[in-house]
Amino acid sequence: MIGAGGVSTVAVKKMAMNTDVFTDIMLASRTKSKCDKIAADIKNISIQTEQVDAGNVDELLRLFNSCKPELVVNLALPYQDLTIMDACLAYGVSYLDTASYELLDEAKYEYSWQWAYKDRFEKAGLTAFLGCGFDPGVTNVFTAYSAKHHFSEIQYIDIVDCNGGDHHKAFATNFNPEINIREITQRGKYFENGEWIETDPLSVHRPLTYPGVGIRESYLMFHEELESLVKNFPTIKRARFWMTFGQEYLTHLRVIQNIGMARIDPVIYNGVEIVPIQFLKAVLPDPKSLGENYTGLTSIGCRIRGIKDGKERTYYIYNNCDHAKAYEETGTQAVSYTTGVPAALGAAMFAKGLWRRPGVFNVEEFDPDPFMAEIGEQGLPFVELFDVDLEV
Ligand code: NDP
Repeated sequence: MIGAGGVSTVAVKKMAMNTDVFTDIMLASRTKSKCDKIAADIKNISIQTEQVDAGNVDELLRLFNSCKPELVVNLALPYQDLTIMDACLAYGVSYLDTASYELLDEAKYEYSWQWAYKDRFEKAGLTAFLGCGFDPGVTNVFTAYSAKHHFSEIQYIDIVDCNGGDHHKAFATNFNPEINIREITQRGKYFENGEWIETDPLSVHRPLTYPGVGIRESYLMFHEELESLVKNFPTIKRARFWMTFGQEYLTHLRVIQNIGMARIDPVIYNGVEIVPIQFLKAVLPDPKSLGENYTGLTSIGCRIRGIKDGKERTYYIYNNCDHAKAYEETGTQAVSYTTGVPAALGAAMFAKGLWRRPGVFNVEEFDPDPFMAEIGEQGLPFVELFDVDLEV
């Protein structure tokens, strides 16, 4: 496993709870001490740690040659996706990640760069799983599950992501601040009638009701799973993604942007080149540290409208995750938890031979049933509602 942040902490702990599937983990990251800290809590399976720069293919190859992995789980940052995929091809090992490749010098993410590896993974007889966190990840599997069992045709899908929790800080992001702020401040985009429609950042919003949380203002954003879902379910007429934000969060975000702290280009400070958003990350609370006082729930799901047996049907499938319970179990908050659990379960699907096919895939391309059969007992139970008002 590569990366030693909040998501990795959860994935390692979950793997260590599934000793029938996982026996040995090599945990490598830029800062070895962070790997050692995670490893110190792991008792029941063998874990080793190493320092690696995942942006460097030669370093990765040296690491792979020393530990001989059967699967590489990339829980570092999206900037490293391609170098890790290159190293996987060079060594001959399958690959799994939770976020699509992103350019360092441009806030843009899409799957085209990683989909371009399809032929090479196919020829090598290796599998690459793209986006096996919660969203992307579980939301894609939810969609595949609903297409398999509840619809003959999915026509409209709205993915709704609510963090109804409170970390009691004035401002903090729930995962890597740099990636998070870049994602939220870019232009919105959704799919309708075969076209992508762009919107100004966070300009389209409406109140939505989240079960167990209540009504929250929800903002339309682009999210990478829209891209793969409209490709893999071509009957979809409209696909949108919504995320909730509180007023306090949006005010801080506006100030951060207005004073130039969200800039991703380097500036000279005291004769040294710094990137403002990277400096900001250094002074904001570490997402891993938020867990201790976090209360409330996340609620993430898919609201789907389509046809079953010639009749229109609506369907809402979601998971609610309690920050405090996630912390009690893994020492991290629910955003890391909801991402780390599916990453570990995706790795288990591969290890058991249930999800294994040469090529590059988004997770909705595999049979959703074995994943759905286990996701609840792994800590993320789901609820299904039929023929309800979807509000969207
Ligand atoms: P963190 O920033 O907490 O952790 C990232 C880790 O990657 C850190 O340990 C960091 O090292 C390490 N890292 C960064 N650059 C390198 C490098 N060049 N070489 C080796 N290691 C490196 O992030 P999170 O744990 O919050 O998120 C991990 C991933 O999960 C991200 O890609 C994020 O986008 C994704 N994610 C996906 C979600 C989903 O639902 N699909 C939701 C939330 C997150 P160091 O400690 O030295 O900085």
